[in-house]
Amino acid sequence: MPLSPSIPLRDRIGLLNRHHRDMSAQDILADTLSGRAGKVALVSAFGAHSIVLLHMVSEIAPKTPVLFIDTLMLFRSTLKYQTEAARVLGLQDIRRIEPNTDELLVRDVDGLLHQADPDACCHLRKVEPFHQALEGFDTWITGRKQHQSSDRSDLPLWEDDGLGRAKVNPLRDWSAQRLGAYIQDHDLPRHPLAERGFPSIGCEPCTFRPTPGLDARSGRWPGQKKNECGIHLPLPAKSGRTQ
Ligand code: SF4
Repeated sequence: MPLSPSIPLRDRIGLLNRHHRDMSAQDILADTLSGRAGKVALVSAFGAHSIVLLHMVSEIAPKTPVLFIDTLMLFRSTLKYQTEAARVLGLQDIRRIEPNTDELLVRDVDGLLHQADPDACCHLRKVEPFHQALEGFDTWITGRKQHQSSDRSDLPLWEDDGLGRAKVNPLRDWSAQRLGAYIQDHDLPRHPLAERGFPSIGCEPCTFRPTPGLDARSGRWPGQKKNECGIHLPLPAKSGRTQ
């Protein structure tokens, strides 16, 4: 049964966390996509382990909108992999989200903003177009995992996205080994860079192999304090959604 929008978001999230606490990822997804959580989108970077969640969703509801943020700075192999994975899985509603061309010309005309100010670059190329694409959705599904970094170690199952929507992380407690086994067991295509030792894959200028012994996301923006692109943080009030 759908949760009434009249229930405050915090209470809805509490109910969903309790209801889904002991369920498998597949059962959480099936229930979420049944209409209980309103209009739902899956957000995917088509990265190292994204295929697991994409596969689960494709088996439950292949028409689920999949939001793919193409910053225009991605590896060419990611773009090829996105096309191939969507074809293999039969996903029917892939939405490629790109930055605003006019804004790019004003704010990153030479394509080097990522060197001078990576936070501003992520905001321009990821956060702003992504939050526009989320308009009209009540809930989004993410592939974040607790093992990826210390900042994600206490990731909850359901959370408030800070912009009036619910966000669910069905694979939050899956290890890299478990994800790899799932990919192997289901004979799913792997991102070519994952095969070459990249456990977390973002834009080409900002993605490197992690130093051995460090966490999976340490190869993203190495040497900087930055470790998240910002789509999991609220937008500043001037451009954010009214709550
Ligand atoms: Fe820009 Fe790097 Fe962020 Fe991509 S990851 S949007 S290139 S700063």
